[in-house]
Amino acid sequence: MSQAAVIDGAGFAAGLRGRVADGVATFRNQAGRAPGLAVVLVGEDPASQVYVRSKGKATVEAGMLSFEHRLPADTAQDDLLALVRRLNADPAVDGILVQLPLPKQIDEQAVIETIDPTKDVDGFHPVNAGRLASGLDGFVPCTPLGCLMLLKDRLGDLSGLDAVVIGRSNIVGKPMAALLLRESCTVTIAHSRTRDLPEVVRRADIVVAAVGRPQMVKGDWLKPGATVIDVGINRVPAAEPGKTRLVGDVDFDSALPVAGAITPVPKGVGPMTIAVLLRNTLVSACRREGVDVSPDL
Ligand code: NDP
Repeated sequence: MSQAAVIDGAGFAAGLRGRVADGVATFRNQAGRAPGLAVVLVGEDPASQVYVRSKGKATVEAGMLSFEHRLPADTAQDDLLALVRRLNADPAVDGILVQLPLPKQIDEQAVIETIDPTKDVDGFHPVNAGRLASGLDGFVPCTPLGCLMLLKDRLGDLSGLDAVVIGRSNIVGKPMAALLLRESCTVTIAHSRTRDLPEVVRRADIVVAAVGRPQMVKGDWLKPGATVIDVGINRVPAAEPGKTRLVGDVDFDSALPVAGAITPVPKGVGPMTIAVLLRNTLVSACRREGVDVSPDL
């Protein structure tokens, strides 16, 4: 029986990070400074701490400046907004990322809307969401843009393909659907109210699963040969007592004999998110300084 190609997201991400590092070197020569990314972490959520640490490390490895701001869990919203405004005004900062989720006393949307849209490298500001929906240039959220890069690398022209995106969050599902529409796919967005999800998925040449439910999408839901992008990151108990492991939203083992290509979890979409964040930060720096580093980002 033929098996799906396993898409090497980690390898693609490493290549992108290399191209970003080359672009940063050119930028530094031309602009006389390094691009800067400010990352703000409020509280001590362990997963967020890991993300922020790895983002900071990757930023420095790419030759950029990393500005980390760690605030206590009881930070008042006004204090966080004041920090964001300072970062908006700081010429050394090209990108601002406030790590989500935020503690309960803080209105996430108010924070997102305070970030200068031209420094919104996460692409969550309504101005950037609107620009994407309108087909205009702007910042696109890192995870869906990374998924699109993997799809185009695998399939080339996506025009006319049937794509099903499962999940409609502002962070993944909706921008993913907008990107696929921009590529002239016929796009269906499925969510928790969708009727007969397996039947909807069965029509798709491209399936993007961004649900947060371990191994929900089964192999027999897939059209043979479909390209499957698994965004889910779910921690489940491992076979060894007391241990855990990461799985996606797709049941990888049953999908493998049916799909044409599939991203694994881990080492699929996950590494793309940070690579695209670095890419967006470099793009922001280039726009601010009027520098053109590379067409391949
Ligand atoms: P959200 O919880 O914000 O959204 C989940 C979406 O899935 C919702 O639209 C929800 O529908 C839908 N959904 C829930 N249950 C079902 C169901 N039974 N059938 C169909 N649809 C369903 O999650 P995110 O978009 O933020 O993240 C999704 C997954 O991607 C998570 O596992 C997350 O960890 C992972 N992730 C991975 C990243 C990476 O770097 N690889 C980055 C970001 C997220 P409804 O709207 O109706 O409630």
